[in-house]
Amino acid sequence: MNKLTFERPFIKKIKAGVPSKFGMNTGIEAITHIDGVSVTQLLEKYGSPLFVISEKTIRNTYREAKRAFNTRYPKVQFAWSYKTNYLNAVCQVFHQEGAWAEVVSGFEYEKALSNGISGRHIIFNGPEKSEEELTKAIQHSSLIHIDHFDELFTLIELSERTSEIPKVAIRVNMDTGVYPIWDRFGFNYENGEAWDALNRIMLSKKMNLVGLHTHIGTYMLSHDAYRIAAMKLADLVVGLDKKYNHSIQYIDMGGGFASKNTLKGAYYSGSDTAPSFNDYAEAISSAIINSQIHPDKLPMLILETGRALIDDAGYLLSTIVANKRLSDGRRATIMDAGVNILFTSFWYDHQIHPAQTMSQNTEETSIYGPLCMNIDVIRDAAIMPLYRKGDKVVIKRVGAYNLTQWMQFIHMRPAVIMIDSDGNTHMIRDRETLQTLNQLEHTPAHLRQTILQES
Ligand SMILES: *Cc1c(COP(=O)(O)O)cnc(C)c1O
Repeated sequence: MNKLTFERPFIKKIKAGVPSKFGMNTGIEAITHIDGVSVTQLLEKYGSPLFVISEKTIRNTYREAKRAFNTRYPKVQFAWSYKTNYLNAVCQVFHQEGAWAEVVSGFEYEKALSNGISGRHIIFNGPEKSEEELTKAIQHSSLIHIDHFDELFTLIELSERTSEIPKVAIRVNMDTGVYPIWDRFGFNYENGEAWDALNRIMLSKKMNLVGLHTHIGTYMLSHDAYRIAAMKLADLVVGLDKKYNHSIQYIDMGGGFASKNTLKGAYYSGSDTAPSFNDYAEAISSAIINSQIHPDKLPMLILETGRALIDDAGYLLSTIVANKRLSDGRRATIMDAGVNILFTSFWYDHQIHPAQTMSQNTEETSIYGPLCMNIDVIRDAAIMPLYRKGDKVVIKRVGAYNLTQWMQFIHMRPAVIMIDSDGNTHMIRDRETLQTLNQLEHTPAHLRQTILQES
């Protein structure tokens, strides 16, 4: 008898539906209405796919965050992070609620001004600000957050040519116990670079040092990291007071609070693991209040929360295009919204809900977008209802970053509508057309008429 050939044992990953200790969380209940408005009717009226923003959710989330901080700290100011979602209508909801603007480029700076925000209420962050942009920010009395020494030296130079004194803060990066450290932005705390920058600003006497800033990362699941960061900034505040008898006006703790989306590969769902606004507020406020800063000199606390304030307010509605079987028998479903407009599907397992009631039957399914590109995978091997061609789906929690990082690629970008607090719908960004693209292009005269030769 021939011996059987040995085959190395192997471990096979179960791809879909690994239950956590709370059991299977398939999250497939139907969402037929958003803020009382029928999803089917929205798609009929505005076409598919379609982004929907809930004004009510923005306001409720903002008020919840504000309350968490206002009840714990005497002076709090939010600044809306433009890059997270800079649709004008969205920015204006935040501004109406009292948020300043936080921008990271000259373009975003202009956008904030054109939204009617006074320069004094614009925080100018980011590693790349041109001399022209800095000059403008100085003249508008904006809060300039210095990222590196070259920018610091440029500001010293510019301050001699402008009538206004630049109002500045430095961005500080630090070890907060979360790795890797975001040390590419700002000046490091531990190696003394932050003090070096502060000393140069104070000794130059050319700038008004008004604040200290940090932004320790994004989707930070550890609220303790904020406690450590706030303690370190408070140390700098105390040191500035001691050495220069200088009181700064604010500590800006940046953004980075997690939203309730679930990261790919996470064991628990994001709605179970994301700290609440209360958790973050408690960590930050207690660190500052219990520091050595004199109670009469407590600085204003600025927050630049992006993701956690807008993610829940955004929905993406889409239509199922087809079903097919892959060569290994797996079910695949194609819908008309792809990764080009849902950038966050690269790191989140987005919840996809049917917009109509479905049977309880499910199957492991890969959900693909409409692009003729292999990377266009919205969900790989997830437990899904048995969608049919023409069914509608609602993807939840897509308000952060998708409407700024989306790409015009293969398909035009879809329309965005807002449902106001009374349930009325408003088009806030038109669907792109061929003309949207063509208006930027110029075809040289000798290429305008191409006639293919018949052979
Ligand atoms: C991106 C960014 C934010 C917002 O971050 P979220 O993670 O969306 O809260 C805030 N401040 C700065 C400097 C940023 O670059």
